[in-house]
Amino acid sequence: MKIAQSFSRLGTESAFEVLAKAKKLESEGQEIINLGIGQPDFRTPQHIVEAGKKALEDGHHGYTAANGTLELRQSVSAHIKKMYSATIDPSRVLITPGGKPTMYFAMMLFGEPGAEIIYPEPGFPIYESMINYSGAKAVPMYLSDKNNFSFNVKEVLSLINDKTRLLILNNPQNPTGGLIPKDQIDELAKGLEQYPHVAIMSDEIYSRQIYDGNKMPSFFYYPKLYDRLIVLDGWSKTYAMTGWRLGWSVWPEQLIELVTRMAINSYSCVSAANQVAAIAALDGPHDFLEDMMSKFNKRRKLIVEGLNSMDGIKCNNPGGAFYVFPNISETGLTGAQFADKCLYEAGVAIVPGTSFGKSANDFVRFSFANSYENIEKALEKIKNIL
Ligand code: PLP
Repeated sequence: MKIAQSFSRLGTESAFEVLAKAKKLESEGQEIINLGIGQPDFRTPQHIVEAGKKALEDGHHGYTAANGTLELRQSVSAHIKKMYSATIDPSRVLITPGGKPTMYFAMMLFGEPGAEIIYPEPGFPIYESMINYSGAKAVPMYLSDKNNFSFNVKEVLSLINDKTRLLILNNPQNPTGGLIPKDQIDELAKGLEQYPHVAIMSDEIYSRQIYDGNKMPSFFYYPKLYDRLIVLDGWSKTYAMTGWRLGWSVWPEQLIELVTRMAINSYSCVSAANQVAAIAALDGPHDFLEDMMSKFNKRRKLIVEGLNSMDGIKCNNPGGAFYVFPNISETGLTGAQFADKCLYEAGVAIVPGTSFGKSANDFVRFSFANSYENIEKALEKIKNIL
């Protein structure tokens, strides 16, 4: 067999490798506390599950429109109006199987040899993987713990040249939990007005997981950019629905027909019954979200204080999502060595920083999507081995 050369450039998400290592140890009888996982440790709210069951009973068994049912796209449009007072026509909404296909489509639309795409580093690993796969040059926008994983707007804009096609942003961020404040996004959006040839993909999948009463600094607040703005969001993290594979994105009017064609060429449409359940999720009630965030907030305090109390660890206080990204360089270990030590000596699974970019050798990612008691136990075990 001769495999296409482009596959040699395709990366992966090595958080799944950590999961495999942890599962192997568990199968050998070891107790492992998993703080490596990037999904809420909650069940999907019952009213959403019931809506999905009922949809199957009611006969939602066939294909739907490739871009998603009109009812669901109207629901997404109403959600955007409620959250950001932005008017987005349902015709610009695309329903996808999870958030990831939006990245794939954006990279396929803009990426090719000779083109450049700017992406956050450290960042969600699929960005760099897909840029490389497309043949474009991946241009890192470095995020540093020195400024709480935010960026300097002038530095970001200085990465743009004639070849730049797309700028990717993720806020709140995976893996750092960093929340780039609204005033900086305002400044960036203003700066981007000078570069009309650059499209923007704002990954806002953690839009409802924000702490300290802050508002989501969404790109929906900048209508001047709408003709080249892609917003990625979905149900996975907000409603604990990662396994349902449900995402939504908003595209410039000019691109929606092309990405719908991509949908037709790859998966046809998202499961019909899941789309009905997705409407139930957006319609509410949303008390589940408050409960989830109150639990995440308590765990955030526990993990930040716990890690900062250990010698050699400096942990950021995340403004969003459910991750911390401590700097562990003063332990004398690299992130990969530290993560292995935690797994094999303490039975705690975490992800090395380099899974999210070469620059993050001194970091590890802890997810606090696990119970308060398990996080307490994990911190105790790590303290003991250090
Ligand atoms: N974007 C970011 C930043 C993520 O962390 C993830 C999942 O971890 C996704 C997108 C993809 O989410 P989904 O499971 O809906 O494809």
